[in-house]
Amino acid sequence: MRKKIVAGNWKMNKLMDEAVALTSELVNMVNDEVQGDVKVILCPPALYLPVIKRYIEDSSRFDLAAQNCSDKVSGAFTGEISAAMLQSAGIGYVLIGHSERRQYFNESNAVLAEKVNTALANVVSPIFCCGESLEQRQNSDYIGFVKNQLTESLFHLTPEQLQAVVIAYEPIWAIGTGLTASAEQAQEMHAALRGHIAEKYGREVAEEISILYGGSVTAASAAELFASPDIDGGLVGGASLKSREFTNIIKAR
Ligand code: 13P
Repeated sequence: MRKKIVAGNWKMNKLMDEAVALTSELVNMVNDEVQGDVKVILCPPALYLPVIKRYIEDSSRFDLAAQNCSDKVSGAFTGEISAAMLQSAGIGYVLIGHSERRQYFNESNAVLAEKVNTALANVVSPIFCCGESLEQRQNSDYIGFVKNQLTESLFHLTPEQLQAVVIAYEPIWAIGTGLTASAEQAQEMHAALRGHIAEKYGREVAEEISILYGGSVTAASAAELFASPDIDGGLVGGASLKSREFTNIIKAR
């Protein structure tokens, strides 16, 4: 059975006291209201991770992800955070290849493959983000483009390593735009990506990989998206900054 996951990517939002307040509200609401086995992964700014960790420690449903890690192991890389550091701080997941990192920090598929490697070497599970731009969707083989992101950053892994990876499909045109992909559009891509994994690793492995959808997910759109057979949960940006809205999204899963 694939893991059902709802992750909240806070991006560069919230001051420390706001981050703590949001977490304690969320933990209370989720513990009171959410049934079933959905996992909730919070992705706060790295600075807050150890603080937020104290607030989720009593709830096995919650986990933490960093929003990024270095592709380097250690050394003179001012400002960077290594996967080993995340592991040493008890952080179980890391977002790798978010489109904002690809776009603003020029992260290539090759660099992302290195990040995936260092995360896995330190037992931190990558949440690997992929997705096409509007231009690509309209003018090219957009499914081929996203498949290639997986090929170039993940397909060097062994089947055992790949099984520690979560994939998040986030069409760039749907991120922060209020324009959610329809359930059909998202399902089409999720099924194609699972098929792509199956071709390389076999059906059994592909069936075990959780593939999350991200891009303007709200409490209103979540249920329909999550009802699709290949959508195992969500990676939520803006709506994860509000405890009520995010709890309702988790309940939809
Ligand atoms: P929004 O939910 O704000 O569109 O952001 C999606 C996202 O980028 C999550 O990583």
